Amino acid sequence: MTPGRIVIVGAGQGGLQAAASLRQEGHDGPIVLIGAEPGLPYQRPPLSKAFLKTGEADKLVLRPRSFFDRNAIDYLPQTRVEEIDRGSAEVRAGGRRIAYDHLILATGTRNLRPPVDGIDAALDLRTLADAAALRAALDRPRRVAVIGGGFIGLEFAAVARRLGHEVSIAEAAPRLMARAVSPLMSERFLALHRALGSSVHLGVPVAAVSATGIELADGTGIAADLVLLAAGVRPNTELAEAAGLRIENGIAVNSRLRTSDPAISALGDCASYPDPRAGRRIRLESVQAATDQARFIARRIVRGEDAPYDALPWFWSDQDDHKLQIAGLAGPDDDAVAVGEAAVFRFAGGRLTAVETVNDARTHMQARKRLGGMAAPSREQLHATGYDLAV
Ligand SMILES: Cc1cc2nc3c(=O)[nH]c(=O)nc-3n(C[C@H](O)[C@H](O)[C@H](O)COP(=O)(O)OP(=O)(O)OC[C@H]3O[C@@H](n4cnc5c(N)ncnc54)[C@H](O)[C@@H]3O)c2cc1C
Repeated sequence: MTPGRIVIVGAGQGGLQAAASLRQEGHDGPIVLIGAEPGLPYQRPPLSKAFLKTGEADKLVLRPRSFFDRNAIDYLPQTRVEEIDRGSAEVRAGGRRIAYDHLILATGTRNLRPPVDGIDAALDLRTLADAAALRAALDRPRRVAVIGGGFIGLEFAAVARRLGHEVSIAEAAPRLMARAVSPLMSERFLALHRALGSSVHLGVPVAAVSATGIELADGTGIAADLVLLAAGVRPNTELAEAAGLRIENGIAVNSRLRTSDPAISALGDCASYPDPRAGRRIRLESVQAATDQARFIARRIVRGEDAPYDALPWFWSDQDDHKLQIAGLAGPDDDAVAVGEAAVFRFAGGRLTAVETVNDARTHMQARKRLGGMAAPSREQLHATGYDLAV
């Protein structure tokens, strides 16, 4: 049964996709899309890449204004949902009460701010407003310190170096992108950033931030007049938690992406779901997860499809001229086998879990195909073919 009015909280990548897919699938009831940010929904990936160079905000917009009129999507920008009242099936936002038959939560994440002295002086890179402020700050020579050697911090560092700024990167873990890639790939990107001229500090957390720079826990001082905080995020779960929904590293959803209340779904960065390949509950921070989950929920609502969500996770990160792509999801301890110059194959229990590539879109696409089914190829099989995924 197609519920009448669908309300979506959060107008980012996933919330917008949910609204678009609901219409595409043929939902003909009202759709209300509520977002806390001003302007039209936009994509975040270019904020740490092209936008820092070009400043072209128009290019980030996901759909033009006419899209919302044409598809009868009631879009409420700059409107924060303050409460979900499950008893009356309403949300409270901007002094209004908006009724829903089905509610979709796509509230995303916000920056983690570690309890470090002076951390408020560090800038964020999450929203278009954050990116515009950073871009403006880079209009004169800067000594930049980046706290966090994950995708976003490293993308920003690479751009800042190319723009001629002095760059230092401080990562508390012993290697770069430790949550996302193999040690082999971490080494490769460490070499890239050092070759670009950034100084990289690994294995020591930041102890303090001040007007003159940052200080590491071992006493090392790093002079800086611009500090970027890119040390991870936390899911925006407060609204769901206050409404009594189950929370487990994000808003917990089941294999159909329903929360503990069947009238409410959740997706994207804010939601954790049981991943059938990993055999555990995971929460992803990627465009792929937000959009695939949005399409899945739309199909489930409109067509009544009742299959578990099983899309293959994949990721990318552009750092200088290196396009890193990852198909699949590896655990931190999965084996890593270097294949040629540009690929690393990851294995757990003798089965392929992920393939990391640099500037090799063909292998990435082949890996997505091979990992897309439920039976991943074994290490023996791949070894026998010289790790050729096309065979
Ligand atoms: C700088 C940067 C670079 C990135 N690069 C990549 C990349 O290269 N590849 C990749 O796959 N991913 C990348 N990502 C991650 C990707 O953008 C996210 O995974 C994706 O946007 C998640 O979509 P979402 O809809 O779950 O959340 P978001 O797109 O973050 O949207 C959530 C929205 O909900 C709003 N909201 C929250 N609470 C409320 C409320 N109570 N009421 C109303 N609105 C609310 C927020 O304001 C926000 O606009 C990047 C992210 C950033 C910040």
